Parts: sequence; C-alpha cells; structure tokens
Amino acid sequence: MDPEKCCESGCNPCERDPDKEGPIDLYNYIGGEFVCQSGDEWMNVLEPATGLRFARVPLSTSEDVDAAVAAARKAQPAWGALSVDERAVWLDRIADALEERYEDIASLESRDTGKPISLARAVDAKRSVTNFRFFAGLLREQESEIFEMEDSTNFVVHKPVGVGALITPWNLPLYLLSWKVAPAIGMGNSVVCKPSELTPMTADLLMQVIDDVGLPAGVVNLVHGNGGGAGAPLVAHHDVDLVSFTGGTDTGQKVAASAAPSFKKLSLELGGKNASIVFSDCDMETTVSGVVRAGFLNQGQVCLCGSRVLVEDSIYEQFRDRFVDAVESMVVGDPSDEATELGALISSEHLGKVSEYVEVAKKEGGNLLTGGQPSLPSKFEHGNWMAPTVIEGLSPDSRCSTEEIFGPVVTLHRFGSEEEAVAIANNTRYGLAGSVWTSDLERGKRVSESLETGMVWVNTWLHRDLRVPFGGVKDSGVGREGGKWSLGFFSEAMNVCVKHD
Ligand code: NAD
Repeated sequence: MDPEKCCESGCNPCERDPDKEGPIDLYNYIGGEFVCQSGDEWMNVLEPATGLRFARVPLSTSEDVDAAVAAARKAQPAWGALSVDERAVWLDRIADALEERYEDIASLESRDTGKPISLARAVDAKRSVTNFRFFAGLLREQESEIFEMEDSTNFVVHKPVGVGALITPWNLPLYLLSWKVAPAIGMGNSVVCKPSELTPMTADLLMQVIDDVGLPAGVVNLVHGNGGGAGAPLVAHHDVDLVSFTGGTDTGQKVAASAAPSFKKLSLELGGKNASIVFSDCDMETTVSGVVRAGFLNQGQVCLCGSRVLVEDSIYEQFRDRFVDAVESMVVGDPSDEATELGALISSEHLGKVSEYVEVAKKEGGNLLTGGQPSLPSKFEHGNWMAPTVIEGLSPDSRCSTEEIFGPVVTLHRFGSEEEAVAIANNTRYGLAGSVWTSDLERGKRVSESLETGMVWVNTWLHRDLRVPFGGVKDSGVGREGGKWSLGFFSEAMNVCVKHD
C-alpha cells in the first residue's frame, strides 16, 4: 500500500488500536498482512439492534482480489506439500487461539448480527472453534483407499485443488466461514475469503487469530467488500480453482454462471423453505417447543428454519393455540441481555422485505395470529425489530407459503393425510431441510424419505453431527459439505493404478 494513499483514505492498518473509541476500521488480510484496499470506498457497518454505526468495512475492488489470489497462489505449493498431520496441527492451533477469544466472538457476533448473546455463545462461538477441531481430527483419521485387482493395486490420492474462493452470508458469519476455511486449508488449498459486508467483524477476528498463530503467509487471505465489487471478481478470477458459496439462491445462480466457463469446482449452499410436519401422535409439549425453535431461531434467519408448519387436521386447533402461546412468550429485546431469546433483523432493507411478505400474506387471505412491533426501550428505536409472526389460512400455493422469507414469520397449514403433508412440503422450488414430529418412528422415517430435501430431522431440529452430509436439492444448492464430503469437495481424488510384476 502506498503510504500516501493510506493517509488520503484515512486507512492505516499499522495503527489498529483495539481500545480506540468509536467505529472500528477493518482491513483486508493479504499475504500475511493487514492491508488497505486499493480504492478509498468504505461502507458503514451498522448494529442491527440500534441502527448505530459500529465499524467501517472497505469496499474492495478487483485489484484487491487480484492481490489476494496472487498471494494465495504463491503460498499454495509449500502449504500443499505439508503432510496431512502437519496441517492438522495448524488447525488445532487456530482452534486453541479462537477458543481464547470465545467471549469476543460471541459479543462481536451478537452486536454485528443483532442475535441474542446466549445464542452467539452457544452456537456461533462454540461451532467456530469446534469446526477447526473437528476437521483436524477428521484429517488425522483418514484411511488410505486401496483397491486390489488380480494383477494390480489402485491407490487413491487426495490432492489439493489449488486456490479456493470462500464466500459467506451474514446469518452465521464465523460459524459458516470456519466451516469452509478448516477443511479447505486442511486439504492443502490456500484460500481467499469474502465474508458478508453486513457482518465482517468475526472474519476480521479470525484473520487476527491466524496472524497471531503464525500460519504461513498467504494460506488464508481475506478481501472485504460487497458482492459486485469483491465477490463477483473473485468468483470469475482465472486463477481461482474452486468456489464454495453460501448465500441466496439468486446470487447462487450468478455465481454458478460466472464459475462455469472455467469449470471451477463449485459448491452452492443456498436458500430454503423448510416444512415442519406435525402428526397427531406427536408428543405435544416437545413438538411445540421444537417447532417454535425451528421457526424462530436467530429471528428465523437460518437457512434450515422451519418456516412452514404443517399440522394434522385432528390436532390443528390445539396445536395452533399452544404454538401461538409459546411464540408470544418469547423474550424479544436487547441482544446483550442474557434473557433475550429473539434479537433484531439484520438490516432495515431486510426488515422491509420481511414486512412486505406479511402484507402479501394479508392480501393472499392470511390471518395474522400474532406479530407486529415489539415494545422496546427508546435506544432501540432505530433498530430493525419485528415481533415473531404467525399466519394461518394461506393456500399452500401462495407466495408466502412457497418463497423464502428468511425472517420471524411462520405460516400454519392443515393436512389430512401423510400423502397430503408430503405434497405440501414438496410444493416449493427449494429442497434444503425439514422435520417430522410423530411418535411412530417408522412413519417418521418413511415421510422423511419422501421429502425432496437434503436433510430431515425426526422429533428434533438442528441436531448436528459434523460427520454427516449437509446440503440441498432443487434450488437449495449443488453438492454436499460436512465431514468427508467437505474433504472430498476441497480435494481432487486421483487414482494411481500400479500393475504387479
Ligand atoms: P447473499 O446471496 O445476498 O450474499 C451472500 C454472499 O455473497 C455475501 O458475502 C455477498 O456479498 C456475496 N455476493 C453477493 N453477490 C455476489 C456475486 N454476484 N458474486 C459473488 N458473491 C456475491 O445472501 P445473504 O443475504 O448474505 O444470506 C441469506 C441467504 O443465505 C438466504 O437465502 C439463506 O437461506 C442463505 N443461506 C444458506 C445456507 C445453506 O447452508 N444452505 C446457510 C446460510 C444462509
């Protein structure tokens, strides 16, 4: 970075002062150094709960992307030449250093996303550390794959793919970024990360941790910025070999089109419109609390959220009343308060989009059972708030029943038979996840297998074993990550066939 340009733009990564009052300036991390972006455009990062400025994030350009990809390319051969065990040691070091910043991760994530601090601790901070530990363990456990023939032996070798572009959304910022970085570098790739411009804080924290532990320069790089300025040139870059993208389906289409001409290896984790199917033989208490959690965790801003609840006719009224009572008893408020269960939505634009869906639902004949504006102290008057909302009476074909809303809005539907429940659940372009609630486990399994999704839970939700495949079908994505599926995606399997004497 030209020092004069540094001064002009007010950007100086050498003077990062964690105790500085006021908004924090973030920097790109390229070739083992925090650096300024090539231009002088910044974007304000706002706290969703208050609407106040929290930080400034650089809006990087293709010039910054070029520098990051070049740094990653330079670092990859030496990194890829390390043994799997050596790379696993690095993942453990990152996990240990992240764990020391556990509380920082939780508080930054809560301020940056508007989610409750208790959730940021239990889900975001915990999983970010676990992701590095888990993949370190999995790398060490890998067994050699050898296939004997009468006259030859086949050895399968897993080679790094090269330089990876890792692009992540705002709902689970470090959780999802670490889910990609750990297996990608574990398999010997170098990477360029592009976190969401709305929630860049913990990606910056991860770069600090990576810098502190002394990971070889260029193995992990980060370019901040928006989709058009930084994400698009990264995906299109001629020297990027793979793209792992998590985000919206519309963006996924653009990413797929841009990656296709150069045949980049591609994993797409996209949107969802998931059904929770409640049968009359369910355990009512467990089901109500499980389905409420599935509908509203993280203000309904989890791709796996069960935003459509399908309830068997005979228990519909009973379930609906208990469900609405449970929703109304949720504590909405200050994300930093330990007792808070629901925080703010990510941005005023997103709140506008979610609120618009509620208006559409009314026009589509929906009956609003609960919702509106939560009453909050005045310091939150400019935040992005919405009370958890439940709507009944919509046709399963309506827009609100089939499109991804990605907010605290759940629609209730009745069904008369197993076949009808499955038909309603599958009546969407998405195919990510679902849950089935019944005491008949045979039926639970049967219905699960009829759903056009990548994942289904029976009598639970978001219960995750990191070894299992994760991903969607239809417009919810392409490919699988998780456990050995991640290791497979972030490597090229090569077969060596050796003829015996
Ligand atoms: P988004 O698609 O708007 O943005 C995701 C990321 O892509 C951001 O970093 C953004 O800057 C970047 N981006 C935007 N345009 C780009 C382009 N043309 N080229 C490259 N990158 C570009 O999504 P969002 O609003 O941040 O996240 C919400 C969506 O993510 C929801 O649809 C949700 O269902 C989905 N999601 C899916 C999963 C999953 O595992 N399937 C997990 C979390 C979120």
